[in-house]
Amino acid sequence: MVETAHEIVVIGAGVVGLTAALKIQEKGGYHVTVIAETLPTDPKTSRYTSHWAGAQHATAADSPGVHPNQLEMDKETFRIMWDLSAPGNDAEGCFMRLQMLSYSGHQRKKPSVWEFMPDFKYLTEEELVPTMVDGSSFTTVTIDVPIYLNYLLSRFLSRGGAVVKGQVQHVKQVIEGGVGAFTGAKNCPKPVAVVVCAGLGARFLGGVEDKDVYPIRGQTVIVRAPWVKEMPCFRLPDGSSSYVIPRRSGDVIIGGTTLVDDWYPTARSKTKREIMERVIKLYPNIAPPEVRAVKEPTVADLEAIVIEDGCGLRPGRKGGVRLEVDSSGSVPLVFNYGHGGYGYQSSWGTASAALSLLEGVLAGKA
Ligand SMILES: Cc1cc2nc3c(=O)[nH]c(=O)nc-3n(C[C@H](O)[C@H](O)[C@H](O)COP(=O)(O)OP(=O)(O)OC[C@H]3O[C@@H](n4cnc5c(N)ncnc54)[C@H](O)[C@@H]3O)c2cc1C
Repeated sequence: MVETAHEIVVIGAGVVGLTAALKIQEKGGYHVTVIAETLPTDPKTSRYTSHWAGAQHATAADSPGVHPNQLEMDKETFRIMWDLSAPGNDAEGCFMRLQMLSYSGHQRKKPSVWEFMPDFKYLTEEELVPTMVDGSSFTTVTIDVPIYLNYLLSRFLSRGGAVVKGQVQHVKQVIEGGVGAFTGAKNCPKPVAVVVCAGLGARFLGGVEDKDVYPIRGQTVIVRAPWVKEMPCFRLPDGSSSYVIPRRSGDVIIGGTTLVDDWYPTARSKTKREIMERVIKLYPNIAPPEVRAVKEPTVADLEAIVIEDGCGLRPGRKGGVRLEVDSSGSVPLVFNYGHGGYGYQSSWGTASAALSLLEGVLAGKA
């Protein structure tokens, strides 16, 4: 007798949904379908945060309000991304291995949460930049997000995964109608479980409607600066931050802002100017070498290499990422959303947690 794979539906095709879908698929015994309103191949929109991230791996597990297992989940993700970024790996082109230089305008707690990272060290006073009083450096990866999202999608599809584009009003549509409710196809298998990876959408999705989910608006500027091969990040004395995240392609994301409950979906020109003014002052090497050779660079020199303005809404959640099961209905729901500003760097760890929850609840139901 041929055993049929259990049908699992994942709602959401951001970095969190695609990674969870892959993790479940690669465990074996499941056929996974992703349903999402926005896919990696769609134009950028504020309804899909994953297109807007820097993105770097630098755990923020020492921040208040994160999930109790945040550090372990971030560490697991780093191990996987480090392997994926190894020379010769199929996914190598999605990543850049580089040195992160973190500077702070106030003394940081020690030991640092980054001590597990390769080549970690505390910076000496001589290595700090003006106005900064503390710092550390380590080796990590940055992620070229549009390429990485498509890598995840193609890996999932090539292993038999299915993707359906559609907006889910209520989880019951999926539970009762399966994928057929969106494609019109008859006799589609009904899912044995639904995994909700809807990001900020979890606030509005019927049957979930989690009012602890809120936006944390982040504005950025993308410049073309292939000469930047390191990642300086600054925590300023006034609490604001400034960062320079190079990608393998030569594009560099500079930022940024973290505005809680700000739903404004596109870049503000005043903020853009402030981001560029801060970065050019703190890290003049962002300007083209030929400009630096003859004068002190200005915002106008940075403006000349801008390719795009960015603005994304991070899916914040009071209490941190929601990793839970609701088994009160006919089909269990596994929740995996609310990753705030760390959805990339925790994606594999939270996917593992979601898989454990899924297997646990299905075993209990068997
Ligand atoms: C400026 C900026 C910088 C960042 N930098 C970093 C960084 O350096 N490192 C890091 O780890 N993270 C970073 N982040 C955070 C990271 O981008 C997010 O945590 C991550 O993208 C969240 O992914 P997600 O899959 O949960 O959500 P999303 O990418 O928003 O995906 C949600 C998915 O759910 C779908 N969906 C939602 N509701 C429905 C519905 N009702 N029906 C059907 N589909 C639905 C959407 O269409 C989409 O496919 C940054 C974010 C910003 C904005």
